[in-house]
Amino acid sequence: MSPVPLEESIFMAVHWRAPGRVNLIGEHTDYNDGFVLPFALEMGCTATVEIRPDAAVEARSAQRDDGASVALDDLAPGTAGWTGYALGAAWALRQRGHEVPGLTILLDSDVPVGAGLSSSAALVCSVTTALDDLLDLHLSPDELLAVSRSVENDFVGAPTGGMDQLAALRCTAGSALFCDMRSLATEQVPFSLGDHTILVVDTRAEHSHADGEYRRRREGCEEAVRRLGVQALRDIDLDGLDAALAQLDDEELRRYVRHVVTEDDRVLKTVQALHASDLAAVGPLLSASHASMRDDFRITAPEVDLAADTLEASGADGARMTGGGFGGCVIGLLPADRVAGAETAVRNAFAAAGFGEPATFTVLPSRGAHRVDG
Ligand code: ADP
Ligand code: MG
Repeated sequence: MSPVPLEESIFMAVHWRAPGRVNLIGEHTDYNDGFVLPFALEMGCTATVEIRPDAAVEARSAQRDDGASVALDDLAPGTAGWTGYALGAAWALRQRGHEVPGLTILLDSDVPVGAGLSSSAALVCSVTTALDDLLDLHLSPDELLAVSRSVENDFVGAPTGGMDQLAALRCTAGSALFCDMRSLATEQVPFSLGDHTILVVDTRAEHSHADGEYRRRREGCEEAVRRLGVQALRDIDLDGLDAALAQLDDEELRRYVRHVVTEDDRVLKTVQALHASDLAAVGPLLSASHASMRDDFRITAPEVDLAADTLEASGADGARMTGGGFGGCVIGLLPADRVAGAETAVRNAFAAAGFGEPATFTVLPSRGAHRVDG
């Protein structure tokens, strides 16, 4: 093949798509150095990125009317609004010493925003992978992860734990991604659904106190770690749980510890079940996770509890809220021939309870960030 002439290569666009994700199990374990098990969705964000002749970065999105164009030298953390998720990739690469030319970044995503399906990491990782390709950076998987995390954590200022970016970058079709959030090591776990399906219910419920409640849980876990003298709650296993609980006289902290320790154990058991192709063992683990989030960690909401209960009553093997809590999405594992009935039942239950109409859709474990043809 003859080389592409320089003037053409400079203005050639690359297109990369990175997916949203569902966390199958493992909630609020990430900041406790524990385990999570996300898989990627078919829904994703496609970034079209090309070099432009001036030293500015421009970001636009098919889902937004506004955009931004900022001189490379003026990029600074704290940029308000959605454009920070795109501009931050140029900033994070420059911070690490990479030379970044002027860029045009166009985004187009079908990941629902703010539903706990990680539209933000889909966006960020579509841009970072596109830039890696466009600029021939050859970043290692760990560097790509660090750059993508830095966009959300340092440039946008969102304290996310790394699972979202790991899933968007590393998931493969037909697998869930077992992540150890202490070492950031990952393992592909075959996730074959056979005659079953994962149905997602986006409750569209958003509870305004979520940020404060999240912080309270995080600080509670940190306090428990101090009192128990461990490095992180991950260092307590199921066998050590009773002894740990006996050391705490605060009922709220006891509940937090019980959730995190049992949830880590449920992730490990889910991984084992999937390795053994024992899908029947997974449903009860999902439901136990939901009960733990509802009763011990207390991060569910009336809408998500109703969705989970209705899925179970409609023939799901198991159902649980996924994501940080206080709204967002619920997943159900159910035989494919029960999906239509379950969707109707959820819609009816929400209408009867006076809740807003939920969205429902099925998902398949899909691949992580990849290049697409223009
Ligand atoms: P989640 O990642 O769970 O969807 P976040 O609050 O972490 O929720 O991220 C949502 C934010 O990501 C949006 O408020 C917006 O700033 C940005 N975003 C996501 N998708 C798009 C898009 N298609 N166009 C522009 N901004 C987007
Ligand atoms: Mg996000």
